[in-house]
Amino acid sequence: MVKINENFEKIEASYLFSTVAKKVAEFQKNNPDKKVIKLGIGDVTRPLPKVCIEAMKKAADEMGKADTFRGYGPEQGYDFLRNAIVENEYKGLGISPDEIFVSDGAKCDCGNIVDIFGENNKVAVTDPVYPVYVDTNVMSGRTGKYIDGKYEKLIYLPMTEENNFKPELPKEVPDLIYLCFPNNPTGTVLTKEELKVWVDYAKTNKSIILFDAAYCAFISEENIPKSIYEIEGAKDVAIEFKSYSKTAGFTGVRCGYVVLPKTVYAYDEDGNKIELNKLWNRRQCTKFNGTPYITQRGAEAIYTKEGQKEIKENIDYYKENAKIILEGLKEIGIKAYGGVNSPYVWLKTPNNMKSWDFFDMLLTKANVVGTPGEGFGPSGEGYFRLTAFGTRENTIEAMKRIKENLK
Ligand SMILES: *Cc1c(COP(=O)(O)O)cnc(C)c1O
Repeated sequence: MVKINENFEKIEASYLFSTVAKKVAEFQKNNPDKKVIKLGIGDVTRPLPKVCIEAMKKAADEMGKADTFRGYGPEQGYDFLRNAIVENEYKGLGISPDEIFVSDGAKCDCGNIVDIFGENNKVAVTDPVYPVYVDTNVMSGRTGKYIDGKYEKLIYLPMTEENNFKPELPKEVPDLIYLCFPNNPTGTVLTKEELKVWVDYAKTNKSIILFDAAYCAFISEENIPKSIYEIEGAKDVAIEFKSYSKTAGFTGVRCGYVVLPKTVYAYDEDGNKIELNKLWNRRQCTKFNGTPYITQRGAEAIYTKEGQKEIKENIDYYKENAKIILEGLKEIGIKAYGGVNSPYVWLKTPNNMKSWDFFDMLLTKANVVGTPGEGFGPSGEGYFRLTAFGTRENTIEAMKRIKENLK
C-alpha cells in the first residue's frame, strides 16, 4: 500500500485564490448582467515589451536551423543572461555570474530552495505573507500542525498598522528568515537602515535571510534597497530571489533567478561549513534542466535601452493605477498603505470588518474583487488587498463604484 507524504494533510484546507474564484463564479451565475472587475490576483495585464517579442522570434528561428539549433542548455542559465544580470542589476555589488542561477520563476525558486536545508531548521515568516513560503515548508515537514490559525512550529513576524508594517526581531531565534520587500501583500517597504538590522541579526545568530525582491522594479523612493546586497554584510547571510514576472510582464513566459553568493554557508551535523552555492547548483543540475533558450533571449532583451524604456512605461502605468486606488480610498476615509513602491494597496477594512465580510460586501455592492487579508495570515485579518495590475479603465471604474457604494 502506497503511503502519501503526510505533511500534505497538514496544509490548511482552504486555498485563498480558489475560494475567491468560487465566490466570484457563484456571484456571476446569479447576476449575469453585472460586470465584475477583478483587482484580486496579482497578475499583470500589459503585453510584453516589443524588444522581448523580437528577441524571442529571432531565437525561435535559430532553433529551426541546424547550425544555430540549441538542445539542453546549462542548468544555471546561459552566460549571456547571467552576465547581463550582473552588469545591469548588481553593478558594484560584487556579485559574479556564477552566483546567478536562472530559472522558470521566483515561485518555483522560493519553493525549491527548501531542498537544501535540513528539516529541523526553525523558519520565520512575516504575517501577512506570500503563501508559497509557508506551504512549501509545510510540505517539507518544518512547520508542525495547523492549530487555531497558525502552524505550531513557525515563527510569525506580525506586520500591522501598530508597527507600521515593519516586522520586529523575534524572541525565538529562527534559522531561516523569509523577507519580501516591497512586500506582497502589504505593498510596504523597508529602508536600508531597517533591512540592515535584519542582516546584522542574521549574522549574529548564524541565520539565513531568504530575500524575495520580485517587486524591486516598482521602487521609486530614495533609500529603499532594490537588492539586499546593497546592505553591508548581506553577501554572507542572504539568498535573493528575483523575477521578470512583475518587472516585465513575464508571468506567462516564465523567467526569474536566484542569487546565491559563494560566501553564504550553512552547517552539517559535524559542524562543517558548507557552501550553499554548491548545494543549490547540485540541486538544480539534478532536478532542473534549464530555462528555455528562447525565454532567456527574451529576458536578455529587457536590458536593452528600448527594453528598459518599455518596462518603465508599463511599471509607471501600474503605479498610476495604484495612485488612483490610494486617492480614491482616501476620499472616502478608508486607511490604505503601500501602493507607492509597489503595485499593491493594503487597506484597513472600515469598522474593523472581517476581511471575508468586506470581500463579500465589495463583490455584491460594487462588483469589485479584491483579496481578503486573512488569506495571507492571521495578522491580515481586518485588511484587504487591491492590485494595480488591472487596466486603467477598469481601475477608474472600480474606484468610482467603491466610492459610490462605500462612503
Ligand atoms: C509574483 C511573485 C513572485 C514571482 O513569481 P514568478 O514565479 O516569478 O512568476 C515571487 N514572489 C512574490 C512575493 C510574488 O508576488
